[in-house]
Parts: sequence; C-alpha cells; structure tokens
Amino acid sequence: MYKRKGNKLLYECQEYINDTCDKFKNLADDYLETGVNLRENLLKIKEGKVEEWLQESQKKYTCKACEKPLAVWTTKCHHCGAEIN
Ligand SMILES: [Zn+2]
Repeated sequence: MYKRKGNKLLYECQEYINDTCDKFKNLADDYLETGVNLRENLLKIKEGKVEEWLQESQKKYTCKACEKPLAVWTTKCHHCGAEIN
C-alpha cells in the first residue's frame, strides 16, 4: 500500500513520522477499528518486508475453515459461514 504525498512516500513525510498528520490519523483510526494497523504495515514495507506483509495479509484474509478469500470488513466467512476472529 504505497501512498504518495507530493512526491514523497507517506512514511518519508515528516508529519507522518511525528504522528501529526490528521489526514493519516483519521484514515488509520478507521482501519484500526477493523483490525488493520496501517502504521505497522507501512513499517514492514519500509523495512523491505513486503513479502512478509503480503503473506501475513493473505493469511489474515483467508478463511481458516474453507481457505477461501475473505472480505476485509466481515466477521463471518461468506463462503462457509465460519466465524472470523
Ligand atoms: Zn470459509
């Protein structure tokens, strides 16, 4: 998830680094409610751990019961009905 602000990557933005960027904070808070930590994700990407992040994301959005892909905002698998925690 690369986001650009001007011609800089988001994590190079001083406001982001200092956690004073309101736009990012609002966005991140929304995501956090659904269990997505944007800061953590971006840190992984920054550290070059894109593969690791992709694998984690794939695992996170795959149903453990039927191994089909899950929707991000759901608490139940819409394929088999298993509860997602
Ligand atoms: Zn399922």
